Amino acid sequence: MSSLLVDDIGELVTNDPVGGEGGPLGVRRDVALLVEDGRVAWVGPARDAPAADRRVDAGGAAVLPGFVDSHAHLVFAGDRAAEFAARMAGQPYTGGGIRTTVGATRAASDDELRATVRRLRDEALRQGTTTIEIKSGYGLTVADEARSLAIAAEVSEETTFLGAHVVPAEYADRPDDYVGLVCGPMLAAAAPHARWIDVFCERGAFDADHTRAILTCGQAAGLGVRVHANQLGPGPGVQLGVELGAASVDHCTHLTDTDVDALASTRLDNGHTATVATLLPGAEFSTRSPYPDARRLLDAGVTVALATDCNPGSSYTSSMPFCLALAVREMRMTPAEAVWAATAGGARALRRDDVGVLRPGARADLMILDAPSHLHLAYRPGVPLIRQVLRNGVPQ
Ligand SMILES: [Zn+2]
Repeated sequence: MSSLLVDDIGELVTNDPVGGEGGPLGVRRDVALLVEDGRVAWVGPARDAPAADRRVDAGGAAVLPGFVDSHAHLVFAGDRAAEFAARMAGQPYTGGGIRTTVGATRAASDDELRATVRRLRDEALRQGTTTIEIKSGYGLTVADEARSLAIAAEVSEETTFLGAHVVPAEYADRPDDYVGLVCGPMLAAAAPHARWIDVFCERGAFDADHTRAILTCGQAAGLGVRVHANQLGPGPGVQLGVELGAASVDHCTHLTDTDVDALASTRLDNGHTATVATLLPGAEFSTRSPYPDARRLLDAGVTVALATDCNPGSSYTSSMPFCLALAVREMRMTPAEAVWAATAGGARALRRDDVGVLRPGARADLMILDAPSHLHLAYRPGVPLIRQVLRNGVPQ
């Protein structure tokens, strides 16, 4: 059994408040953390630290759980820089550009897709992301969705079948037939490589009936439910997600009081909501749209996660620190709320209790900052503050 001691930690964010100490982030000071076989084995005062085979000196800096990015679209080809430039020059975002990426993705080889997924995964890892959910959704044929998920599953256990991203051009006149394909042969080919199913429930994508049909057959195939909901306007996605027991409803930019009440009604005994509201401020930033009202959700007791929505159209960033800074500056989350949402919140959105937290038994996924406090993540936006990342206890 190999052991590693992370020593001289000035501030440790555990997300495991014991006896109410250290606030909701469970902050502890002047501690050390022992890793054995990829898991946290012990956390305690530095002076009591046990011996270990190897040692990583945090140099008095802050150490946090690795970010859990619970919403990313990494399997695609090409980019849409020109569309971004046009949007910044005044054109609105409609989601129609997804079909451009679908064409490029279908034309790409497996190795090209694999190279992009790994490049973005590595880019995210360097910025502190140790768990990343990866969706399909740019193939939209049986074969292209299946290979997208198989490639995603090579680098993450959190893979999501998003065959219902848009109705592809060849089915534009017969969306019912496309829903039949998604629920039939496409789901059958995708399910072995996926943990979750997702639908882009939005005007111009999938309506309430189609969304319900697709999520229900995904559930019957053993997949967990998540939904792209209420991004571009009000809609049925959030309430449908709650009704179907979704782990997360994502975007939540346009919510009614009924939507917020529905989310709050899923509150569990542990104080979290079973359905998490995952906010993706990179999308609002990159489409120059109004941000979701995080305070309204938090004040209603809804559990909030932050994620990147990394994709070539509406949010081409893999940076959780960037999204965290946006959440604080533009969505009036406190720095502590944003750090929690980007770590433990993402874990809740993926129904995971072994990541996003640093306590004995959890995966030793953590980052050492070039800063004395977690506050610096929002306080020093755009600065590369992640000095070192450990994943499964292994320095990356
Ligand atoms: Zn998305």
